[in-house]
Amino acid sequence: MFDNLSEKLDKALHVLKGRGQITEINVAETMKEIRRALLDADVNFKIAKEFTNKVKEKALGQNVLTTLQPGQLMVKIVKDELTQLMGGEAEEIDLSGNPTVVLMSGLQGSGKTTFSGKLANYLKKKKNKKPLLVACDVYRPAAIDQLHIVGEQVGVEVYSDRGNNDPVAIAKAGIKHAKENGQNVVIIDTAGRLAVDEQMMTEIANIHKAVEPQETLFVVDAMTGQDAVNTAKAFNDVLNFDGVILTKLDGDTRGGAAISIKSVVDKPIKFIGTGEKMEAIDVFHPSRMADRILGMGDVVSLVERAQEQFDEEQARKIQKKIAKNRFGFDDFLSQIQQIKKMGNMKDLMGMIPGMGKALKGIDIDDDAFKHIEAMIHSMTPDERANPSKLNSSRKKRIAAGSGRSIQEVNQLLKQFNQMSKMMKMMQGGGGKKMMQMMQN
Ligand code: GDP
Repeated sequence: MFDNLSEKLDKALHVLKGRGQITEINVAETMKEIRRALLDADVNFKIAKEFTNKVKEKALGQNVLTTLQPGQLMVKIVKDELTQLMGGEAEEIDLSGNPTVVLMSGLQGSGKTTFSGKLANYLKKKKNKKPLLVACDVYRPAAIDQLHIVGEQVGVEVYSDRGNNDPVAIAKAGIKHAKENGQNVVIIDTAGRLAVDEQMMTEIANIHKAVEPQETLFVVDAMTGQDAVNTAKAFNDVLNFDGVILTKLDGDTRGGAAISIKSVVDKPIKFIGTGEKMEAIDVFHPSRMADRILGMGDVVSLVERAQEQFDEEQARKIQKKIAKNRFGFDDFLSQIQQIKKMGNMKDLMGMIPGMGKALKGIDIDDDAFKHIEAMIHSMTPDERANPSKLNSSRKKRIAAGSGRSIQEVNQLLKQFNQMSKMMKMMQGGGGKKMMQMMQN
């Protein structure tokens, strides 16, 4: 996420970081570099300029030049300003309606239908809601099919009316259906066009007026950079929407949209989409995003994700095994499976402070564990339970069975031993120490 921007900002701040004493010339030079980094990330010129002016003003106001660690203070000022620029506090959606009506808007291909499914899933699982999805794209039958597929994936009912070509009537009928069936959130997916046009705007404005949604969300593809900001402005002028959903942040986006949108339309980014799967949705936290942009990782989100996937019973079992020195490869495998459920590997690694930079340019595919799994599957149950039995002839057999080299099998054993050791350490109250190590 935002690799290029992170790298450039890091470089810009690097000059100041190592110095005990900084001159005004250094600060000016750094501001120029930061501005350039923002412009390269597709942040609008005016915003980039205002940003660096503010940072500079604060830096001078706080006497950065005379503090003991001027670099650290500068990083903090940049972080705070970046957080403010992206909206300050996280804002979730308003669910006070009965039912709550959520209207999706945005261009075709922005990720509206996918996000409707993700949101339904999120509300159902995390907020204990009973959502209904409503298909209001009357132009593309495939769009209705797509919403049905998404609804099925997340186990949420989809209301559609294929013979009807009046989206306002369908939206109203959908809400009525929800009231009759006890659904307390109605998510209305609408038709988008490839570009902003009057007919689409009139249509969405009409639906908006008719259903009076608690939440009108504007969905936009982060990869479209400055265009994302312009489209947001066009939709906001007509709908005065409540929040922005930034999708495809898992891709190679430059980050400009995330940084600029709030200050252009003065509406918060409420969620981000980080993948095609239904679980790839996150509440947008400006401060955590600023941390990530500045290469500080995002330990809070990482821990949250770990907690979400945390299986208490499984953990207890493993704990017992560790205590009895009986942690085996089957447990190792189940740990890997839990990690995989937390999300895309590169994304996860990027949340560890300092890792984003270290991983730059390295391709981590989602199947990073594929080979490890293959090797473990080539072991006999007895070998998995008793890894110490793995002598060289057994290793040779495992290598042949899994199509990997002996070195890789040895490497796996080493990783396994390290992990066992680490888990022992965590059990002995070392968990806190590890967290501290990660944050420093
Ligand atoms: P709509 O036309 O606005 O309804 O857009 P869709 O929901 O059909 O999404 C368009 C394409 O973008 C589909 O191929 C989705 O799988 C993909 N997509 C949506 N959200 C994300 C995301 O957060 N990350 C990635 N990588 N792809 C996404």
